[in-house]
Amino acid sequence: MPAYNYWDTEIKYLKKVGPKRAEILTEETGIRTFRDLLHFFPRKYIDKSHIYRISELQEGLPQATLTGKIVSVKLIKGGRARRFTAKFRDESGEMELVWFKGVSWIQDIVKPGMNLILFGHPGFYGGKPQMAHPEMELLQPDGSQLHNRPIVPQYPGTEKLQKYGMESRAIRDMVHQMLEGRPGDILENIPPEILNEYSLIPRAEAFTNIHFPDSFEQLTSAKRRLVFEELFFFQLMLAEKKAVIQPQNEAFPFPTVGEKFNRFYHEFLPFQMTNAQKKVLKQIRADLGKSVQMNRLIQGDVGSGKTIVAFLSCLIAIDNDFQAAVMAPTEILAEQHFRSFHAFANPIGVNIALLTGSTKKSERDQLLLELRNGFIHILIGTHALIEDRVEFMNLGFTVVDEQHKFGVLQRAALWAKGKKHPHNMVMTATPIPRTLGMTVYGDLEVSVINELPPGRTPVKTIWRTERTRLEVFGKVRRELQKGRQAYFVYPLVEESEKLDYLAVTAGHEAISKVYPEYRVGIVHGRQKSADKEYEMRKFKEGHYHIMVATTVIEVGVDVPNATVMVIENAERFGLSQLHQLRGRVGRGAAESFCYVMAGKKLSADARKRLGIMVDTNDGFKIAEEDMRLRGPGDFLGTRQSGLPEFRLANILEDHDLLVQARTAAFQLVAKDPNLEDRNHKATRAFFGRYMKNAGGLGSVL
Ligand code: ADP
Ligand code: MG
Repeated sequence: MPAYNYWDTEIKYLKKVGPKRAEILTEETGIRTFRDLLHFFPRKYIDKSHIYRISELQEGLPQATLTGKIVSVKLIKGGRARRFTAKFRDESGEMELVWFKGVSWIQDIVKPGMNLILFGHPGFYGGKPQMAHPEMELLQPDGSQLHNRPIVPQYPGTEKLQKYGMESRAIRDMVHQMLEGRPGDILENIPPEILNEYSLIPRAEAFTNIHFPDSFEQLTSAKRRLVFEELFFFQLMLAEKKAVIQPQNEAFPFPTVGEKFNRFYHEFLPFQMTNAQKKVLKQIRADLGKSVQMNRLIQGDVGSGKTIVAFLSCLIAIDNDFQAAVMAPTEILAEQHFRSFHAFANPIGVNIALLTGSTKKSERDQLLLELRNGFIHILIGTHALIEDRVEFMNLGFTVVDEQHKFGVLQRAALWAKGKKHPHNMVMTATPIPRTLGMTVYGDLEVSVINELPPGRTPVKTIWRTERTRLEVFGKVRRELQKGRQAYFVYPLVEESEKLDYLAVTAGHEAISKVYPEYRVGIVHGRQKSADKEYEMRKFKEGHYHIMVATTVIEVGVDVPNATVMVIENAERFGLSQLHQLRGRVGRGAAESFCYVMAGKKLSADARKRLGIMVDTNDGFKIAEEDMRLRGPGDFLGTRQSGLPEFRLANILEDHDLLVQARTAAFQLVAKDPNLEDRNHKATRAFFGRYMKNAGGLGSVL
């Protein structure tokens, strides 16, 4: 029998709460037990240590606390400008309070004659002080210690909670009762040496002080401790995963850079490598020298030159008498890689072959033979590479393009073709912000090619509305007349493949009518993949002048002659997705254009997204902004990200703490993988409960 846990006590047992109010509180906030309540953190804190007078308010003051009386109130109707105002007076003067939101609710609460303590950002309107949406609280004549503290916590509230008398003040009472009655203590869960090294305050103190700080310094260290804790256990989970589930695979080391690499590098390199390319190549060379499998993600924006880095890495394998394999998600991409690799490989006598589902049987038999006897140095292809009959003489290096298109099993199947685990390089053009990369890829090292080769003309991005559609059509026509090609992209209507299909087929019809003199192809998600490839190939080969498409063209297709793209309903696309799409143009020498078409009525977020697209071509900047706008979970797709929902931590803002927590967690696991040390027992016990709850800190204590 597990011992009774104080934190499991239901809140209805608190004084002045009872079953009815407890039920409402649970409905509105999810709080049911003491544990939940303990983790229900204040949203804001009112600073009563310094009370301003109205006459002291100045422009530029970020926030101020005031005390005084409501003298009069007024509801101003009139549609959009509807607002509620109140005159507020202290002994030094008068100011206006104003609410634009929640007007009917506020109207019920704020009455003339009330004595209030206010907190908020003072603004000036026509030279007079004003405060919009202040935090407020009744001034209590009883002067009880709890509510008259220098810093008063404000808890998140709802209209319903207010109605049932559970405003901030009531919650404060509940938290206070709970903390007073706590038996023993809130147990420490971080090892003492880590507390020490990172100057973290004890856990019990942190929980007490986040609810009832005596000073803002206390509050800061309480928050720091609790944020660290959230990040620490999350990183501990990653560290354990890396240590237990993914032991370091043994691999053949490639100690030398040999003849083929050197000859190519010194005699046949078609351009000067960028510094970013050199840096990444160096990291790869260091990894390949070890007898542990390399697992490295190479992130680089479209056109940053990942291919040459992959090719040079393959040469290192070949110089050490190993073969290499390059796997791409579609036939078109595999062919593209084949063509680039072929051009590089030819002059130095490196043998390349292409294997896809459409390779003819006679060709394939010959190829498989040459692969087995070691004649072929680099095999490029699709999923076809992982079929059983594909046998290498000595596979030592794999490149996987756009890994997220492949499952773990497919990756493993490819690796199984080596005598030991081949070194592995993953390429992606979808940049993941540095902060996320660190938290999400427990198992991959990350390299970034954060520089484009010189002399690129950035794609010009232009934001247009329906009104100027004819101008856009005209621009596209002029490009077509120059012999160039164009894309028209239609959005994926959320959750509805059918509507998606309707939009793109209607688009195809419309575009065919606008440009009767040109041939128009179509690709969308409902086609079989062979049909998609067929259509794309006809566009690539110039048979089609225009391609009408959904986002299926996102990944890697290279048609340098395509110089203009029109994205319809661009407001429906995510920022990263828009950027990926745009990357389909601007791949040749000619200047390219991307028109983002959007309706007039746009949400603030949509406006922001399109604005960023117009402003920058930098994929990493776009990824950061996208994550900021959508939040890290949505950015990655919550399921795949494995990110827990943090209560206090924000992995963007708390980046420094994240790095510290990660270091601490990984060092701890390196020293004591099973947390067996006497000093680590509490951490182990807590971690066990944490893992059972799939990473929700609020649910364990
Ligand atoms: P991506 O990273 O999108 O796969 P690629 O490897 O296909 O980019 O490179 C895009 C184009 O830029 C190719 O034509 C390639 O030959 C060229 N390129 C790559 N690196 C350089 C460089 N350092 N200087 C000039 N051109 C380069
Ligand atoms: Mg590429």
